[in-house]
Amino acid sequence: MEATKKILLVEDNLEDAEVVRRFLEYQGYKISIAQDGQTAIEKVLRETPDAVLLDLILPDIPGKEILKKIKEINDEIAVIIITGYGGEEVAVDFMKAGADDYLSRPFGNNSLLNSLKAVFQIRDAHIEDKKHSRFPSLEKFFPFLAHEVRNPLHAIGGALVIIQRRSDLKDEIISRSIKVIQEEVQHLNEFVQECLDFVRPPAKSGFIEVEINEVISVVINILCHMFEELSQKIRITTEIDPQLPRIQANYEEIKRAFLNILKNSFEAIREEGEITIRTSFNPEPPPGSVEILFTDNGMGNKKENSRLLFSPFFTTKARGTGLGLAICHRIVAQRHNGEIHIESEEGKGTTVKIVLPVSPPREFTGDQ
Ligand code: ADP
Ligand code: MG
Repeated sequence: MEATKKILLVEDNLEDAEVVRRFLEYQGYKISIAQDGQTAIEKVLRETPDAVLLDLILPDIPGKEILKKIKEINDEIAVIIITGYGGEEVAVDFMKAGADDYLSRPFGNNSLLNSLKAVFQIRDAHIEDKKHSRFPSLEKFFPFLAHEVRNPLHAIGGALVIIQRRSDLKDEIISRSIKVIQEEVQHLNEFVQECLDFVRPPAKSGFIEVEINEVISVVINILCHMFEELSQKIRITTEIDPQLPRIQANYEEIKRAFLNILKNSFEAIREEGEITIRTSFNPEPPPGSVEILFTDNGMGNKKENSRLLFSPFFTTKARGTGLGLAICHRIVAQRHNGEIHIESEEGKGTTVKIVLPVSPPREFTGDQ
């Protein structure tokens, strides 16, 4: 027998919600109700509904944002939006943003049932497809790839140290060749690390009190080592807020996100340039959030690319993976309930803005 489908009704008018609840329960669905956006997101995380019926007029969070969050949490949750009378235009806009179907008020019970059946049919077929796919998912493939690549890399690195010790390093061709091998080994190691970071399952533990200003100085240090020569020509300025409160976060993940962003800045500068990092505290709404701005005056990016920068595998670099910003997005938005934005102008530079809540909801930190 088919499992009972769970539906979350997001509707601020409780009377309306109860009417729909009674009807859908009678049809055999399991129903849960949220009267505002925040509760809706919490319930999506906690209850993993099969579908969400989303009324667009909510008191707190704009409907688009809720839709985005739901799809980020799990893009297999079907979202049917409910618009006011004559809201077709809004509906089309939401469908483009990832909604699965829409209903305009007033709608009858039949339209509601038909819409649910249609989205479930598509969704179930999609899930079934995934199960039977001949190709493994990236979640399975990347760890396999990492394992297969890392072992020989380790051996190559070890053998290279021996060659280096026994060779005449004054011979320029030999020393240059050794350097090439070293660089390539490092590149492959980083590539494999990015693949793993991209698929690593959400860290349900590991949230501690993190001092953002401290993470920034650690990351600057790492990068100056990584880009030894280039770092001489780049001026890094920090304008930190000394009163910045500590935040609840996963230290390693935040470090990884900052590292990826600053690595991009280094790669965008190439010759000479400046990087500025600013931190500030916004107390509203309590307990507030921390904002971090990374600005560089590197080569920037074309306007038409702006929508693509966070997409996995999008890169404009000959040897990029296109995973750095996708990982940042996962870490900031999905694992810390924060925000990340990038603004870039070709020839001028780039600014990445991150907002991290001082204490993300319990669903994110894994606390019970
Ligand atoms: P990768 O660095 O491997 O290309 P990322 O996900 O880190 O992958 O970045 C994706 C793309 O975003 C880059 O290829 C580049 O085009 C653009 N980008 C990111 N950061 C910057 C920056 N600071 N300046 C210019 N372009 C950037
Ligand atoms: Mg990168």
